[in-house]
Amino acid sequence: MGLFDVHAHLTHPRILPVIDDVLARARAAGLTTIVSNGLHPKDNAAVLALAKRDPLVKPAIGLYPVDAVMREMLAAKVPYPRDEADDDEPPSAEEAVAFVRAHVEEAFAVGEVGLDGYWVPEALWPAQEDAFRALVRIAIDADKPLIVHTRKREQRTLEILQELGAKRVDFHCFGGKVALARKVAEAGYYLSIPANARRSESFTRMLETIPRGQLLLETDCPYLAPEKDQASEPANVALTWRYAAERWGVTEDAAAAQLEANFEALFGVKP
Ligand SMILES: [Zn+2]
Repeated sequence: MGLFDVHAHLTHPRILPVIDDVLARARAAGLTTIVSNGLHPKDNAAVLALAKRDPLVKPAIGLYPVDAVMREMLAAKVPYPRDEADDDEPPSAEEAVAFVRAHVEEAFAVGEVGLDGYWVPEALWPAQEDAFRALVRIAIDADKPLIVHTRKREQRTLEILQELGAKRVDFHCFGGKVALARKVAEAGYYLSIPANARRSESFTRMLETIPRGQLLLETDCPYLAPEKDQASEPANVALTWRYAAERWGVTEDAAAAQLEANFEALFGVKP
């Protein structure tokens, strides 16, 4: 048993060049599992390759909700800070979903997937939902947990997951109202808290008010670092674990045991 990060981006260009150091620091901090999440086919392939190299890394393959409509975003010249080179033609949603379908048995989870209404204009929401539904069905059919991103579309995401009968779901970095986070937990879904929790009022309130049995640890590294303008990394889940113990008023050992039990309940294996 040990600490875990259910939502990392180890293949991100800020992390991959220094991956050996990042994984060494994660091990030193007590992590036994890092779920690295893929964003699109090329990234999913990189995640699967990295997981083969190091057993600390578990592969989640998915389709980032903005990537699900990237071709349409580019065609409509919607502003978006894209990482890839501009001349790199993004795959269609059909191609990206087909990759997940073809590789789902190799995956530890399906993610990240979801709905984003922050970057994506409303005209593209139906296409984005179609891709999300297809990915949720793939995960359900393969009995894999889902790691879900939702931004400005929290209620709709919850509706679709319930309508399709998804049972094993983590909402990563939930930015909706805390009352809605409670509904997510009531639906039996999990919420993973990032390492910036101490400086975030809403993550602090979630730690205090969401049933403890529905909470998990994540980083979303290299994003959401404990300090602003830092690059985060999986070792930082140790800070959130200690912060959870503090807010719960329990020992660090008791908090670790709770979080480990939650991980096992969702993923079906110990971290
Ligand atoms: Zn992410």
